[in-house]
Amino acid sequence: MHKTDILIIGAGPVGLFSVFQAGMLGMKAHVVDSLDMIGGQCAALYPEKPIYDIPAYTKISGEDLIKNLHAQNEKFKPIYHLSQQVTSITNDGKAFKSITSRGVEIESKIVLIAAGAGSFTPNRPPLANIEKYEDKSIFYMVKNRENFRGKKIAIAGGGDSAIDWTINLAEIAEKIFLIHRRDKFRAAPESLSQVESLEKAGKVELVVPYQLHNLEGENGILQNVIVADLNGNEKKLDANILLPFFGLATDLGPIKNWGLGLEHFHINVDQASCETNIPGIYAIGDVSHYEGKIKLILVGFSEAAIALHHAYSRVFDGKALHFEYSTTKGAKGL
Ligand code: FAD
Repeated sequence: MHKTDILIIGAGPVGLFSVFQAGMLGMKAHVVDSLDMIGGQCAALYPEKPIYDIPAYTKISGEDLIKNLHAQNEKFKPIYHLSQQVTSITNDGKAFKSITSRGVEIESKIVLIAAGAGSFTPNRPPLANIEKYEDKSIFYMVKNRENFRGKKIAIAGGGDSAIDWTINLAEIAEKIFLIHRRDKFRAAPESLSQVESLEKAGKVELVVPYQLHNLEGENGILQNVIVADLNGNEKKLDANILLPFFGLATDLGPIKNWGLGLEHFHINVDQASCETNIPGIYAIGDVSHYEGKIKLILVGFSEAAIALHHAYSRVFDGKALHFEYSTTKGAKGL
Protein backbone atom coordinates (compact mmCIF):
# COMPACT_ATOMS: atom_id res chain seq x y z
CA MET A 1 0.00 0.00 0.00
CA HIS A 2 1.44 3.35 -1.11
CA LYS A 3 0.73 6.27 1.22
CA THR A 4 0.59 9.79 -0.16
CA ASP A 5 -1.09 13.14 0.37
CA ILE A 6 -2.88 13.36 -2.95
CA LEU A 7 -3.94 10.91 -5.60
CA ILE A 8 -4.36 12.52 -9.01
CA ILE A 9 -6.46 10.64 -11.57
CA GLY A 10 -5.35 11.75 -15.04
CA ALA A 11 -1.90 12.81 -16.25
CA GLY A 12 -3.11 15.34 -18.83
CA PRO A 13 -1.79 18.92 -18.68
CA VAL A 14 -4.08 19.75 -15.76
CA GLY A 15 -3.16 16.66 -13.72
CA LEU A 16 0.51 17.39 -14.36
CA PHE A 17 0.27 21.02 -13.25
CA SER A 18 -1.53 19.79 -10.11
CA VAL A 19 1.61 17.84 -9.19
CA PHE A 20 3.54 21.12 -9.21
CA GLN A 21 0.91 23.06 -7.27
CA ALA A 22 0.71 20.26 -4.71
CA GLY A 23 4.50 20.19 -4.42
CA MET A 24 4.67 23.94 -3.80
CA LEU A 25 2.20 23.45 -0.93
CA GLY A 26 4.30 20.62 0.52
CA MET A 27 2.05 17.76 -0.65
CA LYS A 28 3.29 14.54 -2.24
CA ALA A 29 1.41 13.11 -5.22
CA HIS A 30 0.79 9.83 -6.98
CA VAL A 31 -0.72 9.99 -10.48
CA VAL A 32 -2.74 7.28 -12.26
CA ASP A 33 -3.51 7.33 -16.00
CA SER A 34 -5.09 4.76 -18.27
CA LEU A 35 -2.75 5.67 -21.15
CA ASP A 36 0.82 4.36 -21.30
CA MET A 37 2.21 7.89 -21.41
CA ILE A 38 1.65 11.21 -19.69
CA GLY A 39 0.19 14.28 -21.40
CA GLY A 40 -3.50 13.53 -22.02
CA GLN A 41 -5.02 15.10 -25.13
CA CYS A 42 -1.93 17.28 -25.82
CA ALA A 43 0.39 14.28 -26.12
CA ALA A 44 -2.02 11.80 -27.64
CA LEU A 45 -4.07 13.92 -30.03
CA TYR A 46 -2.02 16.92 -31.11
CA PRO A 47 1.64 16.66 -30.04
CA GLU A 48 2.92 18.70 -32.99
CA LYS A 49 0.17 21.31 -33.18
CA PRO A 50 1.00 24.75 -31.82
CA ILE A 51 -1.12 25.99 -28.89
CA TYR A 52 -1.43 29.79 -28.86
CA ASP A 53 -3.19 30.48 -25.57
CA ILE A 54 -0.79 29.27 -22.92
CA PRO A 55 0.21 32.39 -20.97
CA ALA A 56 3.73 33.70 -21.70
CA TYR A 57 4.21 31.52 -24.79
CA THR A 58 3.47 33.03 -28.20
CA LYS A 59 3.03 29.39 -29.20
CA ILE A 60 4.07 26.01 -27.87
CA SER A 61 3.45 22.52 -29.27
CA GLY A 62 1.38 20.02 -27.30
CA GLU A 63 4.49 17.87 -26.88
CA ASP A 64 6.69 20.69 -25.60
CA LEU A 65 4.03 21.86 -23.15
CA ILE A 66 3.93 18.36 -21.65
CA LYS A 67 7.75 18.09 -21.59
CA ASN A 68 7.93 21.41 -19.72
CA LEU A 69 5.22 20.44 -17.23
CA HIS A 70 7.01 17.15 -16.60
CA ALA A 71 10.35 18.90 -16.09
CA GLN A 72 8.74 21.44 -13.73
CA ASN A 73 7.51 18.53 -11.58
CA GLU A 74 10.78 16.62 -11.34
CA LYS A 75 11.83 18.24 -8.08
CA PHE A 76 8.68 16.94 -6.38
CA LYS A 77 9.26 13.32 -7.48
CA PRO A 78 5.69 12.30 -8.28
CA ILE A 79 5.01 8.58 -8.70
CA TYR A 80 3.22 7.68 -11.96
CA HIS A 81 1.09 4.55 -12.35
CA LEU A 82 0.41 4.35 -16.10
CA SER A 83 -1.72 1.96 -18.20
CA GLN A 84 -4.26 1.54 -15.40
CA GLN A 85 -7.43 3.06 -13.99
CA VAL A 86 -8.54 3.54 -10.42
CA THR A 87 -11.30 0.95 -10.12
CA SER A 88 -12.52 1.64 -6.59
CA ILE A 89 -12.24 4.31 -3.92
CA THR A 90 -13.32 3.89 -0.31
CA ASN A 91 -12.98 6.16 2.68
CA ASP A 92 -12.64 4.86 6.25
CA GLY A 93 -13.15 8.34 7.70
CA LYS A 94 -9.39 9.01 7.89
CA ALA A 95 -8.15 8.51 4.33
CA PHE A 96 -9.16 7.43 0.86
CA LYS A 97 -8.09 3.96 -0.24
CA SER A 98 -7.90 3.49 -3.99
CA ILE A 99 -7.21 0.33 -5.96
CA THR A 100 -6.16 0.34 -9.60
CA SER A 101 -6.92 -2.13 -12.37
CA ARG A 102 -3.38 -3.47 -11.90
CA GLY A 103 -3.93 -4.06 -8.21
CA VAL A 104 -1.89 -1.07 -6.99
CA GLU A 105 -3.26 0.23 -3.66
CA ILE A 106 -2.87 3.89 -2.78
CA GLU A 107 -3.91 5.60 0.44
CA SER A 108 -4.33 9.37 0.15
CA LYS A 109 -5.78 12.27 2.10
CA ILE A 110 -7.50 13.70 -0.97
CA VAL A 111 -8.34 12.59 -4.49
CA LEU A 112 -8.11 14.99 -7.41
CA ILE A 113 -9.88 13.89 -10.59
CA ALA A 114 -8.35 15.46 -13.72
CA ALA A 115 -9.68 12.86 -16.13
CA GLY A 116 -10.54 15.19 -19.03
CA ALA A 117 -13.12 13.63 -21.31
CA GLY A 118 -12.17 10.21 -19.94
CA SER A 119 -9.93 7.56 -21.40
CA PHE A 120 -10.07 7.92 -25.12
CA THR A 121 -9.84 5.33 -27.87
CA PRO A 122 -10.20 6.12 -31.57
CA ASN A 123 -13.29 4.91 -33.41
CA ARG A 124 -12.03 2.21 -35.80
CA PRO A 125 -13.59 1.75 -39.23
CA PRO A 126 -15.22 -1.68 -39.58
CA LEU A 127 -12.74 -3.16 -42.10
CA ALA A 128 -11.75 -6.82 -42.30
CA ASN A 129 -8.24 -7.51 -40.94
CA ILE A 130 -7.69 -3.88 -39.97
CA GLU A 131 -5.73 -4.95 -36.89
CA LYS A 132 -2.99 -6.44 -39.12
CA TYR A 133 -2.25 -2.98 -40.51
CA GLU A 134 -2.61 -0.91 -37.35
CA ASP A 135 0.60 0.84 -36.20
CA LYS A 136 2.30 -0.26 -39.46
CA SER A 137 0.23 1.37 -42.21
CA ILE A 138 -2.89 2.55 -40.38
CA PHE A 139 -2.65 5.23 -37.70
CA TYR A 140 -5.36 7.01 -35.72
CA MET A 141 -3.08 9.80 -34.53
CA VAL A 142 -0.15 11.64 -36.09
CA LYS A 143 2.60 11.59 -33.50
CA ASN A 144 5.46 12.45 -35.85
CA ARG A 145 4.55 13.90 -39.25
CA GLU A 146 8.02 13.15 -40.64
CA ASN A 147 7.04 9.45 -40.71
CA PHE A 148 4.70 10.34 -43.56
CA ARG A 149 7.17 12.19 -45.79
CA GLY A 150 6.99 11.04 -49.43
CA LYS A 151 4.07 8.66 -48.78
CA LYS A 152 0.77 8.23 -50.58
CA ILE A 153 -1.74 8.80 -47.82
CA ALA A 154 -5.47 8.08 -47.66
CA ILE A 155 -7.16 10.30 -45.07
CA ALA A 156 -10.74 9.35 -44.19
CA GLY A 157 -13.21 11.58 -42.36
CA GLY A 158 -15.23 14.73 -42.83
CA GLY A 159 -14.35 16.87 -39.82
CA ASP A 160 -11.60 19.22 -38.63
CA SER A 161 -8.97 16.52 -38.00
CA ALA A 162 -9.27 15.07 -41.51
CA ILE A 163 -9.10 18.52 -43.10
CA ASP A 164 -6.31 19.87 -40.85
CA TRP A 165 -4.09 16.84 -41.43
CA THR A 166 -4.77 16.93 -45.18
CA ILE A 167 -3.45 20.49 -45.28
CA ASN A 168 -0.57 19.77 -42.92
CA LEU A 169 0.63 16.54 -44.58
CA ALA A 170 0.14 17.80 -48.16
CA GLU A 171 3.42 19.72 -47.66
CA ILE A 172 5.44 16.51 -47.28
CA ALA A 173 3.33 13.67 -48.75
CA GLU A 174 3.63 12.49 -52.35
CA LYS A 175 -0.14 12.55 -52.63
CA ILE A 176 -3.20 12.64 -50.41
CA PHE A 177 -6.56 10.98 -51.07
CA LEU A 178 -9.23 12.64 -48.94
CA ILE A 179 -12.14 10.23 -48.52
CA HIS A 180 -15.54 11.27 -47.17
CA ARG A 181 -18.93 9.61 -47.44
CA ARG A 182 -20.61 12.96 -48.13
CA ASP A 183 -19.56 15.65 -50.58
CA LYS A 184 -19.59 18.36 -47.89
CA PHE A 185 -17.02 18.63 -45.08
CA ARG A 186 -17.54 19.98 -41.55
CA ALA A 187 -14.60 22.36 -41.26
CA ALA A 188 -13.69 26.04 -41.22
CA PRO A 189 -14.27 27.78 -44.60
CA GLU A 190 -10.61 28.97 -44.76
CA SER A 191 -9.42 25.38 -44.34
CA LEU A 192 -11.79 24.17 -47.04
CA SER A 193 -10.52 26.76 -49.51
CA GLN A 194 -6.93 25.62 -48.72
CA VAL A 195 -7.97 22.05 -49.58
CA GLU A 196 -9.50 23.32 -52.83
CA SER A 197 -6.21 24.98 -53.79
CA LEU A 198 -4.30 21.78 -52.94
CA GLU A 199 -6.71 19.83 -55.13
CA LYS A 200 -6.11 22.24 -58.03
CA ALA A 201 -2.35 21.86 -57.51
CA GLY A 202 -2.72 18.06 -57.79
CA LYS A 203 -1.52 17.41 -54.22
CA VAL A 204 -4.91 16.25 -52.97
CA GLU A 205 -7.51 14.05 -54.65
CA LEU A 206 -11.01 14.34 -53.23
CA VAL A 207 -12.68 10.93 -53.05
CA VAL A 208 -16.34 11.82 -52.35
CA PRO A 209 -18.91 10.51 -51.70
CA TYR A 210 -17.09 7.27 -50.92
CA GLN A 211 -16.62 5.08 -47.86
CA LEU A 212 -13.78 2.82 -46.82
CA HIS A 213 -14.55 -0.66 -48.07
CA ASN A 214 -11.51 -2.92 -48.02
CA LEU A 215 -7.75 -3.09 -47.57
CA GLU A 216 -5.15 -4.76 -49.78
CA GLY A 217 -1.61 -5.50 -48.73
CA GLU A 218 0.73 -7.99 -47.11
CA ASN A 219 2.27 -8.35 -43.66
CA GLY A 220 0.64 -5.16 -42.45
CA ILE A 221 2.01 -3.13 -45.36
CA LEU A 222 -0.82 -1.47 -47.22
CA GLN A 223 -0.79 -1.49 -51.02
CA ASN A 224 -4.30 -0.28 -51.85
CA VAL A 225 -7.30 1.15 -50.07
CA ILE A 226 -10.57 0.12 -51.67
CA VAL A 227 -13.47 2.56 -51.36
CA ALA A 228 -17.07 2.19 -52.48
CA ASP A 229 -19.84 4.68 -53.23
CA LEU A 230 -23.40 4.33 -51.96
CA ASN A 231 -24.30 2.16 -54.99
CA GLY A 232 -21.47 -0.24 -54.23
CA ASN A 233 -19.23 0.95 -57.10
CA GLU A 234 -15.66 0.33 -56.00
CA LYS A 235 -12.52 2.34 -56.60
CA LYS A 236 -8.89 1.38 -55.85
CA LEU A 237 -6.59 4.01 -54.32
CA ASP A 238 -2.86 3.18 -54.36
CA ALA A 239 -2.25 4.53 -50.87
CA ASN A 240 0.35 3.02 -48.53
CA ILE A 241 -0.86 4.81 -45.42
CA LEU A 242 -4.41 5.16 -44.08
CA LEU A 243 -5.34 7.76 -41.47
CA PRO A 244 -8.97 7.31 -40.37
CA PHE A 245 -10.29 10.29 -38.38
CA PHE A 246 -13.71 9.16 -37.16
CA GLY A 247 -13.60 10.76 -33.73
CA LEU A 248 -12.86 9.32 -30.34
CA ALA A 249 -14.86 7.13 -28.04
CA THR A 250 -14.38 8.48 -24.53
CA ASP A 251 -15.17 6.75 -21.28
CA LEU A 252 -14.73 7.90 -17.71
CA GLY A 253 -14.63 4.23 -16.68
CA PRO A 254 -15.22 3.35 -13.04
CA ILE A 255 -15.43 7.08 -12.08
CA LYS A 256 -19.07 6.90 -13.22
CA ASN A 257 -19.89 4.61 -10.29
CA TRP A 258 -18.49 6.69 -7.43
CA GLY A 259 -21.64 8.68 -6.65
CA LEU A 260 -20.23 11.95 -7.94
CA GLY A 261 -23.48 12.93 -9.65
CA LEU A 262 -22.10 12.95 -13.17
CA GLU A 263 -24.09 14.87 -15.75
CA HIS A 264 -23.27 14.44 -19.44
CA PHE A 265 -19.83 13.04 -18.56
CA HIS A 266 -19.03 16.05 -16.36
CA ILE A 267 -18.63 16.26 -12.62
CA ASN A 268 -20.33 19.25 -11.04
CA VAL A 269 -18.12 21.08 -8.56
CA ASP A 270 -18.31 24.11 -6.33
CA GLN A 271 -16.44 26.71 -8.38
CA ALA A 272 -14.96 28.32 -5.26
CA SER A 273 -13.14 25.12 -4.25
CA CYS A 274 -13.50 22.64 -7.16
CA GLU A 275 -14.72 20.14 -4.55
CA THR A 276 -17.30 17.56 -5.68
CA ASN A 277 -20.33 16.40 -3.72
CA ILE A 278 -17.95 14.08 -1.81
CA PRO A 279 -15.77 16.05 0.63
CA GLY A 280 -12.10 15.46 -0.15
CA ILE A 281 -12.68 14.52 -3.78
CA TYR A 282 -11.97 17.35 -6.20
CA ALA A 283 -12.51 17.57 -9.97
CA ILE A 284 -10.63 19.96 -12.26
CA GLY A 285 -9.84 20.49 -15.93
CA ASP A 286 -12.12 19.32 -18.74
CA VAL A 287 -13.96 16.81 -16.54
CA SER A 288 -15.31 19.40 -14.09
CA HIS A 289 -18.29 21.64 -14.58
CA TYR A 290 -19.85 24.80 -13.11
CA GLU A 291 -21.78 27.65 -14.66
CA GLY A 292 -19.59 29.59 -17.07
CA LYS A 293 -16.94 26.87 -17.31
CA ILE A 294 -14.54 27.20 -20.27
CA LYS A 295 -12.65 24.06 -21.27
CA LEU A 296 -9.19 25.47 -21.75
CA ILE A 297 -5.84 24.35 -20.40
CA LEU A 298 -5.25 27.66 -18.65
CA VAL A 299 -8.62 27.38 -16.87
CA GLY A 300 -7.62 23.89 -15.69
CA PHE A 301 -4.31 25.26 -14.34
CA SER A 302 -6.22 27.86 -12.34
CA GLU A 303 -8.59 25.19 -10.99
CA ALA A 304 -5.57 23.14 -9.85
CA ALA A 305 -4.44 26.09 -7.73
CA ILE A 306 -7.95 26.67 -6.33
CA ALA A 307 -8.51 22.99 -5.45
CA LEU A 308 -5.13 22.44 -3.80
CA HIS A 309 -5.22 25.62 -1.72
CA HIS A 310 -8.67 24.54 -0.53
CA ALA A 311 -7.46 21.01 0.20
CA TYR A 312 -4.48 22.17 2.28
CA SER A 313 -6.13 22.04 5.69
CA ARG A 314 -7.57 18.57 4.99
CA VAL A 315 -4.16 17.28 3.94
CA PHE A 316 -2.41 18.81 6.97
CA ASP A 317 -4.97 17.79 9.62
CA GLY A 318 -6.82 21.09 9.96
CA LYS A 319 -3.76 23.36 9.78
CA ALA A 320 -4.71 26.71 8.26
CA LEU A 321 -2.92 27.71 5.08
CA HIS A 322 -0.73 30.77 5.41
CA PHE A 323 -0.94 32.00 1.80
CA GLU A 324 2.36 33.02 0.24
CA TYR A 325 3.46 33.89 -3.27
CA SER A 326 6.02 31.58 -4.87
CA THR A 327 8.33 34.61 -5.04
CA THR A 328 8.13 34.87 -1.25
CA LYS A 329 8.54 31.25 -0.24
CA GLY A 330 10.77 30.20 -3.16
CA ALA A 331 11.20 26.68 -4.41
CA LYS A 332 14.53 25.08 -3.53
CA GLY A 333 16.14 23.32 -6.48
CA LEU A 334 14.18 25.14 -9.16
P1 FAD B 1 -6.96 15.50 -20.72
O1 FAD B 1 -5.91 16.19 -21.49
O2 FAD B 1 -8.12 14.90 -21.43
O3 FAD B 1 -6.24 14.38 -19.85
C1 FAD B 1 -7.01 13.50 -19.07
C2 FAD B 1 -6.19 12.27 -18.78
O4 FAD B 1 -6.95 11.46 -17.86
C3 FAD B 1 -5.94 11.41 -20.02
O5 FAD B 1 -4.56 11.14 -20.12
C4 FAD B 1 -6.78 10.14 -19.78
O6 FAD B 1 -6.14 8.98 -20.27
C5 FAD B 1 -6.84 10.10 -18.26
N1 FAD B 1 -8.03 9.40 -17.78
C6 FAD B 1 -9.32 9.63 -18.12
N2 FAD B 1 -10.14 8.81 -17.46
C7 FAD B 1 -9.34 8.04 -16.67
C8 FAD B 1 -9.59 7.01 -15.75
N3 FAD B 1 -10.81 6.58 -15.49
N4 FAD B 1 -8.52 6.45 -15.11
C9 FAD B 1 -7.24 6.87 -15.39
N5 FAD B 1 -6.95 7.85 -16.25
C10 FAD B 1 -7.99 8.42 -16.88
N6 FAD B 1 -7.00 23.78 -25.19
C11 FAD B 1 -6.43 25.02 -25.08
O7 FAD B 1 -6.41 25.59 -24.00
N7 FAD B 1 -5.86 25.61 -26.18
C12 FAD B 1 -5.81 25.01 -27.41
O8 FAD B 1 -5.31 25.59 -28.38
C13 FAD B 1 -6.37 23.69 -27.53
N8 FAD B 1 -6.33 23.03 -28.71
C14 FAD B 1 -6.86 21.77 -28.79
C15 FAD B 1 -6.76 21.07 -30.01
C16 FAD B 1 -7.29 19.79 -30.12
C17 FAD B 1 -7.17 19.06 -31.44
C18 FAD B 1 -7.93 19.20 -28.99
C19 FAD B 1 -8.50 17.80 -29.08
C20 FAD B 1 -8.02 19.88 -27.79
C21 FAD B 1 -7.49 21.17 -27.68
N9 FAD B 1 -7.56 21.88 -26.48
C22 FAD B 1 -6.98 23.12 -26.38
C23 FAD B 1 -8.24 21.34 -25.30
C24 FAD B 1 -7.22 20.81 -24.28
O9 FAD B 1 -6.40 19.81 -24.87
C25 FAD B 1 -7.95 20.27 -23.06
O10 FAD B 1 -8.67 21.34 -22.47
C26 FAD B 1 -6.95 19.71 -22.06
O11 FAD B 1 -6.23 18.62 -22.60
C27 FAD B 1 -7.69 19.26 -20.79
O12 FAD B 1 -6.72 18.78 -19.93
P2 FAD B 1 -7.09 17.72 -18.81
O13 FAD B 1 -5.79 17.41 -18.12
O14 FAD B 1 -8.25 18.21 -18.03
O15 FAD B 1 -7.63 16.44 -19.60
